[in-house]
Amino acid sequence: MTGPMEPIEDTDVAVVGAGGGGAVLALALAQKGIRTVVLDQAQGPPKGLRGEILQPNGQAVLDRLGVLRSLPAEAMRSVRNFHFLRAGGTRLCSIDYGELPAPYNHAIVTLPNVAHHAIVEAVQKQPSVSLRYGTSFTGLLLDNGRVAGLTAEGPDGSSAIKAKVVVGADGVFSKVREAMKIPADVHLYPEGYLIAIVETEQRVAESYYYVGHRQILGLFPATGKKVYLFYMIPSGSMDSLKQRGISELQRVWTGIAPQFGALFKHLTDWSQTAYMPTGRVRTPTWVKDGAVLIGDAAHAMNPHASQGRMQAMVDAMVLANLLPDCLKDGDCSVERLRAYEVARRPHVTMLQRLADQQVFYWNTGNPLVAFLRDRVFQTLDRNPRLRYQVLATTAGLRTEAPFTFFDRLIAAGILPDFFANDTAGSRPS
Ligand SMILES: Cc1cc2nc3c(=O)[nH]c(=O)nc-3n(C[C@H](O)[C@H](O)[C@H](O)COP(=O)(O)OP(=O)(O)OC[C@H]3O[C@@H](n4cnc5c(N)ncnc54)[C@H](O)[C@@H]3O)c2cc1C
Repeated sequence: MTGPMEPIEDTDVAVVGAGGGGAVLALALAQKGIRTVVLDQAQGPPKGLRGEILQPNGQAVLDRLGVLRSLPAEAMRSVRNFHFLRAGGTRLCSIDYGELPAPYNHAIVTLPNVAHHAIVEAVQKQPSVSLRYGTSFTGLLLDNGRVAGLTAEGPDGSSAIKAKVVVGADGVFSKVREAMKIPADVHLYPEGYLIAIVETEQRVAESYYYVGHRQILGLFPATGKKVYLFYMIPSGSMDSLKQRGISELQRVWTGIAPQFGALFKHLTDWSQTAYMPTGRVRTPTWVKDGAVLIGDAAHAMNPHASQGRMQAMVDAMVLANLLPDCLKDGDCSVERLRAYEVARRPHVTMLQRLADQQVFYWNTGNPLVAFLRDRVFQTLDRNPRLRYQVLATTAGLRTEAPFTFFDRLIAAGILPDFFANDTAGSRPS
């Protein structure tokens, strides 16, 4: 674990990974004047295709950091309505983000990586942060059993950095977590998502989410005439999908979402697509003396929750609020750092469970489970109280589970709801 080389550099915080969580942490720390080194093994900020939805809690984080208003308007699309439909086109339920408190009463769909690039740009302007791409974490430095820094391999060779806190923001397969000797239950789901972006003449102003017999297809409008498509496929099936050809995929999609048949014709090349695997991480702890895990390294979750990146950002903000005092007191012990985990774990655990329940119901091939799923959607459509609770959870504004035990019975149509129109009690304060 301890490298042979002498540390040549000293910093307050060393962050491994400049992804969704690490970049936000670097910016938040910089705004508090904390000296930070951020390493990322990639050669630069990501450029590939990926779906991007900024939920209201993520918008609030970016707003607090001064990044939200710097996002280029031409790369963003504000979306209020999300419709859930049965494959084939029967509407089940509609959710309106406009019910949420202003100003974050909408979802923002951006072109790939737009928010991330804006955060990285802001980080690069900060004199107290050194962001180094092409630099991989190789190990932790220890001092009397406490983490005291890290070793890395970059374009100029090996280096050692002494740091008062090391943050593992290095994703699902975190090497920092491994070096901290924190055991992890890393579960790869049997399904991932094919993501595509198409440009179309057909006006799509709202989002549509189709669920069927082991089928999920989502359409989210992006800026201009662009539309994102999300299609659940078994992991490892991308090649066979390509062999069957684009026209076969268009045929299947048209069966699921007949009103968008013309739109699917705008998928003309596989280069418009990408495959994204999905995983979940559970760990018994996120903190050690002098080291912390954030984001997917600590708690990756199924994208059904639409909150993975948002939660990595919230982790970063909570940690950035805690670290200045720890640094000032010269105490970055596990006892002090645990306050971060205590603050964050309940929300994240709830979302991980919720996402897994959604995987069970939404991805199902079992007609009975599908019947129950559709019934819950239909109850939500008629029940403003339950609908608001689900919306506030997806928006990242509610930390408790969306349904109590009785709410579940109501949602399944087993109990009546005498308070269906009373949304006041479920509104975030
Ligand atoms: C299909 C799909 C859809 C999703 N949709 C949403 C959504 O709608 N909303 C949402 O909020 N989230 C969504 N997510 C989840 C989101 O992408 C992740 O939760 C988020 O990126 C986690 O941020 P992170 O900083 O923890 O990790 P990452 O963003 O993965 O960043 C990790 C960084 O660490 C670097 N790294 C790794 N190892 C090393 C090393 N040894 N040395 C140096 N650097 C290293 C990597 O290069 C990378 O830049 C989705 C995920 C998937 C798969």
